[in-house]
Formats: sequence, structure tokens, C-alpha cells
Amino acid sequence: MTEKIKGIAASSGIAIAKTFILKNPDLSFERQTVSDREAEKKRLEDALEVSKNELTEIRNTAEKSLGKDKAEVFNAHLMFLSDPEFVGAIRSKIDDESLSAESALEDVSTFFIQTFESMKDNAYMRERAADVRDVSKRLLAHLLGVSFTSPASITEETVIIAEDLTPSDTAQLNRNYVKGFATNIGGRTSHSAIMSRSMEIPAVVGTKTVMEKAKDGEMAIIDGLNGVVILDPTAGEIEEYRRKQAAFKEQQEEWKKLVHEPSKTKDDVHVILGANIGNPGDVAGVINNGAEAIGLYRTEFLYMGRDKLPSEDEQFEAYKEVLEKMDGKPVVIRTLDIGGDKKLSYLPLPQEMNPFLGFRAIRLCLERQDIFRTQLRALLRASVFGKLQIMFPMIATIGELREAKKILFEEKDKLIAAGTQVSDGIEVGMMMEIPAAAVLADRFAKEADFFSIGTNDLIQYTMAADRMNEHVSYLYQPCNPSVLRLISKIIDAAHKEGHWAGMCGEMAGDATAIPLLLALGLDEFSMSATSILPARSQLLKLSKEEMKKHKEAFLNLDTAEEVLDYVRTKMI
Ligand code: PEP
Ligand code: MG
Repeated sequence: MTEKIKGIAASSGIAIAKTFILKNPDLSFERQTVSDREAEKKRLEDALEVSKNELTEIRNTAEKSLGKDKAEVFNAHLMFLSDPEFVGAIRSKIDDESLSAESALEDVSTFFIQTFESMKDNAYMRERAADVRDVSKRLLAHLLGVSFTSPASITEETVIIAEDLTPSDTAQLNRNYVKGFATNIGGRTSHSAIMSRSMEIPAVVGTKTVMEKAKDGEMAIIDGLNGVVILDPTAGEIEEYRRKQAAFKEQQEEWKKLVHEPSKTKDDVHVILGANIGNPGDVAGVINNGAEAIGLYRTEFLYMGRDKLPSEDEQFEAYKEVLEKMDGKPVVIRTLDIGGDKKLSYLPLPQEMNPFLGFRAIRLCLERQDIFRTQLRALLRASVFGKLQIMFPMIATIGELREAKKILFEEKDKLIAAGTQVSDGIEVGMMMEIPAAAVLADRFAKEADFFSIGTNDLIQYTMAADRMNEHVSYLYQPCNPSVLRLISKIIDAAHKEGHWAGMCGEMAGDATAIPLLLALGLDEFSMSATSILPARSQLLKLSKEEMKKHKEAFLNLDTAEEVLDYVRTKMI
């Protein structure tokens, strides 16, 4: 019987094929203690060895088919298997409590997973918890002598249905056969969702129930555009979705024609469409999708998944690579935005009641100047390889901006005095993501070369609604007039001082928000690489002059709902 299930649209496109249900292997076991602890540790060592060999092989395959960057996650898994904190804790449990290797592993992995999950990070920490879960499952299977169903064994066109897809599952997907997937859990920023987007496999995640409802081998439709899964569709539905699929493909072909075009509105106004990246490997996707700039390079990813701070040279190489690959196009590199929800295992930070309002980003960097100065030197040295724009995150006060700039210029002077070349055209800007800064944007504009509006945080702070908390998600309203007025204020303040204003929060790639942002005068929109061509195509249909005529009207509405209704009926 046909069943329609709603989920989160994780990767666009439509897939129609038979289901392949990826079952979790039965990894149940009885908790017990052992008398021979040495033998138990030997079992652990053997399982570690097999798991490492297997992971090395998957990593090598993934490197070939997906590229070095996407394969990096398996290095993280391999690192866990050699991490003295993780493996040492399992060994100690066997030694101290005479636990079986399985029981010891269960205790230690549960502890690690809970610790990571309690950090409530929107993306990074959840991925670390997923990594521990993934790697522990593999290790446990080897301890129990149970084998996995490998998605690599699929040799006919299918859509995968799974509780969750681990990064290793996703990396093994053969694009020739796997047309799409749907999972019970996960969000748009989970590892598998991110990978599905870069592999361009339609995906719906977070359905909660698809695993229970799907039958192996029945037909299914994965609508990654609307976040819908249809199990056992009728002939009519298949027909309808084949038409939608063809239309989407046609639309993609149309979008592709815009790869080398500038981003212009109907009335010939040029705005910059940039991409957000997390590491140098993402630049290929940025170029393939025709981005004109990198509007946000989140450098914290360079500091993660490792056991010590990256050296100045390592950072220099990464920044240089991005600047060179972008070949003179603007690259906004944001200094370290760590702390709060994003922790580094090797950098102990104080326990906080409100980490989002805590010791993070620029606050931490101004305190830990050793870390900050190292990064700034790496950036300054890399600046001669392209068009670098340095951006400070989480600036709340003018004092912070002045202090950060002072440190930057001190490092610049020292490098120049030592005979190192530094570009003299580096723009120095700031994230606008704290309401205090937005309200005072006119003053900040006198001291910053550009603003990039971080709506992900700006909205949560303006509405006092945690961006991760589903109970208050109704308050997370990008189009609330209060948020729009702040954005308007920020853009006007930048323009008054002759500067540009961009946006690197998720809102910049939102088709409903784009007409509003255009009306408000935003100069640069930075988004995930795959949103660029749809945005470029949308801009071609919008006249900036026309949009501007609506500005007063929508800024004077009362509610977000009214704004949304206004855009849809009057602006698009
Ligand atoms: C933002 O806050 O909008 C932003 C782009 O930064 P992040 O999502 O990394 O906090
Ligand atoms: Mg932010």
C-alpha cells in the first residue's frame, strides 16, 4: 500500500527505484566479566587490527572515488582506533573491572558519544558522536565475529533505506547504482547529508519511520526537493514523479549554462554570489558551481579532528591553497570561531552554563593570543597568493574589533620587518552576528572594511531562541521584521562608509529571502556551492529596482508570516 512519509530534504533531486534496506547487524551481547584479562586484551588488539585494515582500505577507495577531502573522515576514525584516550580507556576497563572487551567498549563509547552529544553542536560535535558510533560498531562487530551488509555490494539500481547512514556507508555508495537514500535520523548538517549533496545523490533524512515502513525490494520515490518519501507508489505517482524528475534535470541543465555567467539581476545589477567552505578540498565544488568568491571559509575545521593545534606552516599551506585555487577571486577567511558548542579535545575550556553566550571565537582569541597570532601570521603570509579578506567572528564591541585589528597589524609589521612579503590590499572585516554590533553598525562601519551578516547566530540572538532547540524553533524566524530591520541597518551603515555588505548565514541562499535581501541592498550572498546556480537563475528574474520599491512596505509589516506572504504574492 502506498505510503507517503515526510522528512528533511537533505540533497535535491528525485530518485525512483527499488528499495535496498540496509539493516543494522545484530550486535547484541551479554555484559560479562572475564577471568583472563590478558586474553581479553588480545581479543581487543585483534579486533582493532582488523578494523584498522578495513578502514584503511575504505579510506583508500574513498580517496579515489570521492577525493582526499571526503576520505578525511576515515582518517578521523583511524585516529580514534589509535587514540590513547579512547583505546586506553577500554584497556583500563578490562584491567580494572575485568570487563569483557565488548562491555568495556560499550561503556567507553557511550561515554564519548554522550559527551559529544551533550555539547549540542549544530554540526561538528554531532559528527564526532556519529564517528565514535560508527567506529565502535565496526570494532564491536569484529569482536563478535558478525559481518556487515555492505552498501558496496549493491549492483542494481536502488534507493537505500536505513536507520542512519554512517560516513563509511555513504562513501561506499556506488553512484551508478544508488540513486537516492532515505534515513530515519539525521539533519541537513549530518555527515551523510553533506556527503550526499557533494555526490549529488537525492536524499531525505530524519523521516523517523521510513525504516519501519519500507519493505525490501518494493518501489520507492525519494523526493529530495520537498523532503518526501513515497513507498510502493501507484503507477500514476511514478508517472508524475518521472515528469518531475525530467523537469528537474532539465532545470539543472539550464542552471549549468549559467556557470560562467556573472550574477546579474533582470535590470543588470551585479551582485556577488559566493560559497561557504570548511576546507581547501571544497574549492573544486565552488568552482564547478560558478561561485564568484568564497564568502566564508570556516577555519575551525582545520583545528578539528586532530590532537594538537595546527602549526603556522600547516595553516599557511591551507590558506595558500584556497587563495591560489580561487585565482584572484575574493576569499573571506574567518579567524577561528571555536568555543561554545565547538570544542577542541586538546584545548581545555571552562564548563559553561550558556556556551553560545560564552568564551568563544574572538573572545577566546583575544585571550589566547598565542593561538590567534599564529593564525594571523599564516593568513598574512598567504595573502600574496590571492585576494584575501580577513574576517573576525562574534564581534560585540568596538573595543574587540580594535584589539583584533591591532594584533593583526602588529603581526603584519613584524613579518614585514623580517622581510616576509605581505599583501597591502587585505580588507579586514567582521561578522555581523550579534545584535549589539548590528545596532551600532554605523560606528563599526568606520572601522571595518566590510560586514558579513551571520544570520545563523544573528537570528538566534535577536529572537533569544537557541538555533538548535526544536521547542523554540517557531521563533527562529529569518523573515521576522525585527531581523530584517537589523539587516537593513547593517547594509545601510556599510554603504554609508563606502563598504560592501555580504551575508554568509543560511538565509543568503534561501529563495524566499533573496528578493528581500536584494531589496535591502545586499552586495554579496554566500551559500553552499550547490545553491549558487539556482540563486543565479532566480536573480535573473528579479529586478533590483522593482524589489527596492517594496522595502518600506515589508519592513513595516508586523509579523514574519505577513512578510512571507508579502514576498510570495508581491515580489516573486
Ligand atoms: C552565522 O552565524 O550565520 C555563520 C555563518 O556562522 P556559523 O554558522 O559558523 O556560526
Ligand atoms: Mg556564527
